[in-house]
Amino acid sequence: MQNAMPELRLAPGREASLARRHPWIFSGAVASAPAGAAPGDLVRVVSSSGEALAQAFWSPASQIRARVLSFDPAEPGVASEPWIASKIAAAWTRRAGFWNRASHNAARVVHGEGDGLPGLVVDRYAGALCVQLLSAGFDRRRSEIAAALLDLFPDVSLVWERSEGKARAREGLEDRCGLLASRPGAAAVDPTAVGIVLDGVKTAVDLASGQKTGSYLDQAANRARVGALAAGLDVLDAFCYDGGFSLACLRGGAARVTALDASEPALAALRANLARNGLADAPVECVRGDAFETLRRFRDARRSFDLVVLDPPKLADSKSRVRKACRAYKDLNRLAFKLLRPGGLLATFSCSGAVDPALFSTVVAEAAVEAGRNARELARFGQGPDHPVALSCPEGLYLKGLLCSVD
Ligand code: SAH
Repeated sequence: MQNAMPELRLAPGREASLARRHPWIFSGAVASAPAGAAPGDLVRVVSSSGEALAQAFWSPASQIRARVLSFDPAEPGVASEPWIASKIAAAWTRRAGFWNRASHNAARVVHGEGDGLPGLVVDRYAGALCVQLLSAGFDRRRSEIAAALLDLFPDVSLVWERSEGKARAREGLEDRCGLLASRPGAAAVDPTAVGIVLDGVKTAVDLASGQKTGSYLDQAANRARVGALAAGLDVLDAFCYDGGFSLACLRGGAARVTALDASEPALAALRANLARNGLADAPVECVRGDAFETLRRFRDARRSFDLVVLDPPKLADSKSRVRKACRAYKDLNRLAFKLLRPGGLLATFSCSGAVDPALFSTVVAEAAVEAGRNARELARFGQGPDHPVALSCPEGLYLKGLLCSVD
């Protein structure tokens, strides 16, 4: 079996990143493509001198030509259904210590490279799972993945698929969204409104047409931390989506919340989420608009806030867009600093992996200077422990944030 595996031969000197256990093999590192391999096949990676190094999924359409699943070239059964099941089970076990059903019933189960499964994302929302298959290898194994998930989570009724977006396009894969599998006879779950609880805040997740897999689980712990600071404060939640930070702040005793997003469905979801938490009459102003323009308008109208949350979408999706993205981050953060009352707090985030934490801090520091404010960093934010980062693949760290206070 193993001898039948097609071989991908690396160019001379290109073994170094594999020796550091980095799982991506770029086009420039490939001396010869695996003969006869179809997209998504498991291939053996060999050095320029023919030494077997690893087993990887072949992605001929992508700049990342192969993604390593095992750095042991002799490991049996790699990418088989039992192997996938055991890797997902290990990923879930890793999260056990962070999983507290009383206050929490949603978490990321598999985070791609961070769990040794490059190209696979699985989010758990109470009795439903949502998967994203972002590599040709996992795309071809969707039924094995669904079977493994239903086996591993006996209280899950359905597995939904949200395989879409730029990462799929770069793999040469079409979008695929819809029901992937369901458990016969299980309790019915409405995939467009899956009720979840995170730190006591109830929301409904729309697996079919919500953003990403329906929700931004990576911010769960940060919302709770920010909410704990909000008692009595006048809060601006910019890029609020379905209200994660707004709800956490209201729960923390915020005096008022202004929730801003460009998307009307996001604001409609926020309003429904307020009602779910008995907060339908809370002092919340929903503003639909472009944040860059709206923050300027607020500045010109001399509006001010005690706490501003800035959580923009990914502004740089590649290294080539970093400079432009940094200008946009600086613009937003400068405006946010200007809107803060004396003693105010800014919780500012970037989910662009291409903008590293040091660069983001520099941009925020420059924004404070341009706004004419003395500011200090009180704390740093990251992605939650259910979004682990392989130490050998720092590209997996994408979400970072700073909590700043101004004089
Ligand atoms: N803070 C949210 C996640 C935000 S995701 C949470 O905790 O769950 C980014 C949000 O920014 C999305 O809801 C998107 O609709 C919104 N958005 C994107 N571009 C925008 C813009 N230019 N102005 C305002 N909102 C924007």
